[in-house]
Amino acid sequence: MRIFKEIKTIQNWCKEQKLQGKSIGLVPTMGYLHDGHLSLVREAKKHCDIVVVSIFVNPIQFGAGEDFEVYPRDFERDTGLLEEEKVDAVFAPSNNEMYNPDSSTFVEVTGEITGKLCGASRPGHFRGVTTVCTKLFNICLPDKAFFGQKDAQQVMVLEKMVRELNFPLDIIRVPIVREADGLAMSSRNVYLDPEARQQALILNEALSEAEEAIKNGERDTARLKNKLREIIASSPLAEIDYAEIYDAYDLADVEKADRKIIMALAVRFGKTRLIDNRLVEV
Ligand code: AMP
Repeated sequence: MRIFKEIKTIQNWCKEQKLQGKSIGLVPTMGYLHDGHLSLVREAKKHCDIVVVSIFVNPIQFGAGEDFEVYPRDFERDTGLLEEEKVDAVFAPSNNEMYNPDSSTFVEVTGEITGKLCGASRPGHFRGVTTVCTKLFNICLPDKAFFGQKDAQQVMVLEKMVRELNFPLDIIRVPIVREADGLAMSSRNVYLDPEARQQALILNEALSEAEEAIKNGERDTARLKNKLREIIASSPLAEIDYAEIYDAYDLADVEKADRKIIMALAVRFGKTRLIDNRLVEV
């Protein structure tokens, strides 16, 4: 497995792979890898000749007062796991390598799709994500890039960017990987103390109950949102950032769950903010 820290070197290596007729799959991550990340890697291995995983805690997608400084990092462990998965290359640049001090170019998707949910709670977050992914696409030249449904709004925003800016690549969505008890895997789960970890199960439970209600004929999204909020509020440590239901394609408002919808949650347990979501089609 090759480990690259410099943009020029990996970009040249990727160009060579392409000249040899090999397809490239890119899995962008911020490291501290778990089985959710590895499911993206396994999917990439199925689709592409060469798999590149990037590990970069992207400073420009964190807001002031967020967890950039303390975000968990373990490069040795991550590269060990990727070696076991037979990944071809890891790209792990420094902040200075990715951003010159005078960098002033950003890629931004505007409108409802970035104005709601995490876009509203974390101003500038998606601009950071679309900018770093544009750079990673230009550096690693992927034919396909793999993203988790766990970060549902992120993958929707990236699909829109790729469509509208004609990037020559496909975005592949990979389903949410959960712990045995239903908690969506996340690098941030390590922040949870045992009590919060137990109470965090309420996210998946609330989504399952609301999904069940839809399957049983409930269509009114206002009532469904109330149901989500009531269930989550039964966990004393949970502080709801949002519990919303939108159109699954563009995050348009929906009064009735009569098409493909997304139920999206962001909930704080102490300082730890967790997100989860469920797509439902009737
Ligand atoms: P992160 O390192 O948190 O930026 O995540 C890197 C990629 O892994 C993103 O595309 C995430 O959506 C994806 N991912 C994170 N957690 C999960 C999970 N539990 N299931 C599936 N994909 C995930």
